[in-house]
Amino acid sequence: MKTIGLLGGMSWESTTSYYQAINVGINSHLGGLHSAKICLHSVDFAEIEELQRTGQWQQAGTILTQAARGLERAGADLLLICTNTMHKLAPRIEEAIGIPLLHIADATAEQLVEDGIGTVGLLGTRFTMEDDFFRERLRKKFGIGVVIPEKAARQDLHAIIFNELCHGMINPKSRTRFLDIINDLGRHGAEAVVLGCTEIALLVQQQHSRVPLYDTTAIHAAKAVSLALAE
Ligand code: GLU
Repeated sequence: MKTIGLLGGMSWESTTSYYQAINVGINSHLGGLHSAKICLHSVDFAEIEELQRTGQWQQAGTILTQAARGLERAGADLLLICTNTMHKLAPRIEEAIGIPLLHIADATAEQLVEDGIGTVGLLGTRFTMEDDFFRERLRKKFGIGVVIPEKAARQDLHAIIFNELCHGMINPKSRTRFLDIINDLGRHGAEAVVLGCTEIALLVQQQHSRVPLYDTTAIHAAKAVSLALAE
């Protein structure tokens, strides 16, 4: 079994989901007392969030690159960045390490392609919804069309992620807001909606929505399990 390197803490609420999903996944394949081999570097999210908010992506990249190198030195065979947003820096991090980086958008897109989905709605932080690094990767590399919510909805999603979900707060009113936005994306041509922020599934799950949902955390973790077990 390979050792999975997790670059986490963004936020720790969703890193917990990764840790659990990867261990459950390994155990469901191997049984008994088997669990995952994991190296985790968990950052102080307040430092990272401030750098995001103030546009200091270079500085954030330096912190994450050093952490990724540390995971490689500690014995990780592959690396996962446990946040969609910080995949904005994935090319720089990938360049700095000698182990494979399992990109969250690639893992998600491969599942969408396998399921024959051609157009998706994308939910996430404003960086993930508005910048190119996630949307364009789906479009250019996989031919998947992406619709994003309108401005007021994007602002609400971003605020709910940082003010509630990253603090572990689950608010039914916020779930209703998410579901309204998901349904709206469905009316605008999305065949499915990508939960493109690793905390969203703490609030919204498939049971709440008729529109098919693709949880990037679960997909990313499952892909890591199959890579860790591959020959
Ligand atoms: N975990 C989140 C994501 O998947 C948001 C936190 C962050 O800004 O890194 O984008």
